[in-house]
Amino acid sequence: MEQALVGMDAAEIGQLLERVCGGVPSFRARQVYEAVYRRRVSGAEEISTLPRELRERLAGALPFGLPETERCYESADGTKRYLLKLADGKSVETVLMPEDGRYTFCISSQVGCPVNCRFCLTALLGLERNLTAGEIAGQVLHVAAVNGLSAETSKLNVVMMGQGEPLLNLENVLKAARLLVDPKGVGLSERRLTLSTSGIIPKMMELGGSPLRPKLAISLNASTEEQRRELMPVTRKYHLNDLMEACRVYPLRAWERLTFEYVLLKGVNDTDADARRVVKLVANLKCKVNLIALNPGVGIPFETPGAARVDAFQRIVRRAVPCFVRKPRGLDIHAACGQLKRMAEENPLPILR
Ligand code: SAH
Ligand code: SF4
Repeated sequence: MEQALVGMDAAEIGQLLERVCGGVPSFRARQVYEAVYRRRVSGAEEISTLPRELRERLAGALPFGLPETERCYESADGTKRYLLKLADGKSVETVLMPEDGRYTFCISSQVGCPVNCRFCLTALLGLERNLTAGEIAGQVLHVAAVNGLSAETSKLNVVMMGQGEPLLNLENVLKAARLLVDPKGVGLSERRLTLSTSGIIPKMMELGGSPLRPKLAISLNASTEEQRRELMPVTRKYHLNDLMEACRVYPLRAWERLTFEYVLLKGVNDTDADARRVVKLVANLKCKVNLIALNPGVGIPFETPGAARVDAFQRIVRRAVPCFVRKPRGLDIHAACGQLKRMAEENPLPILR
């Protein structure tokens, strides 16, 4: 992807100014950084702290690089789903979920996803490309700006659980994380940033070695090796046993615990026996389990279990570790987990913007 201003860290902005303007004092780089990440301007022309000439040179030198809203859908429960347009015309999805004065941004790390989970609509897109660090952080910048949100005035959470497998784009994901938590910029709390993986084991180790990193969530989704291979073919390469071993040795910070996500599929992985096997898998880990009853979709060959089954499953797991049922957000606008697949033009949903 072409270089853009959004996505550059302070040092890169300094080098850029040196290259395009030459000899400008170093505080100019700080002003640009502040405008992009703290004030969240939407173009170089808006960096009012810079002299006009510098603004114009900057705007002419490279694209700004923020995504634009192509569509926005709003759910009856307040969830907003954004289809965001990138510089090359491709699009990704970002979901904003308000709850009790907190806001959670569910952002994408890739356009589409190369991991072929059989219950997930995003899988049907395949991988189109990785997102740049600017495009990952830019989703938060843009959606926060259009909703008037900032980390100074609201509790903001970011979960990398939209389109894509974040650990297959780790370098850009980590750079985006650094930009998002920098107190001189967006100022998000590191504890409010989470990444979810289908279990790319070698990359989990790399993530664990990074000094600044999102919290780790693992999509478990099965209670045996065979079942997981069936539902998540990535398990053929990264076996369930090895995944659980990687979880055991994962370097958690004092305040951190692992999250396991488990999508319940009716009659497939939702029995009491499954729940007991999940307990065995996670019992000695510092962790919690989030259950998600399948969000259905056209082309997904599974059904959603009833509330009583979900309850029974939760009761068994809860005996060993904290276990929660994630309520679906934005189902009416297809914004819930696993439903992020760009909608066709003929889509019947009302378009807000
Ligand atoms: N690729 C990463 C992150 C994005 S998916 C991962 O797989 O972890 C985010 C979560 O949505 C995962 O836990 C995944 O198992 C879950 N999910 C996928 N399809 C779903 C569906 N149809 N219904 C409910 N959850 C789903
Ligand atoms: Fe990709 Fe996650 Fe969907 Fe699997 S569940 S296809 S890893 S986005």
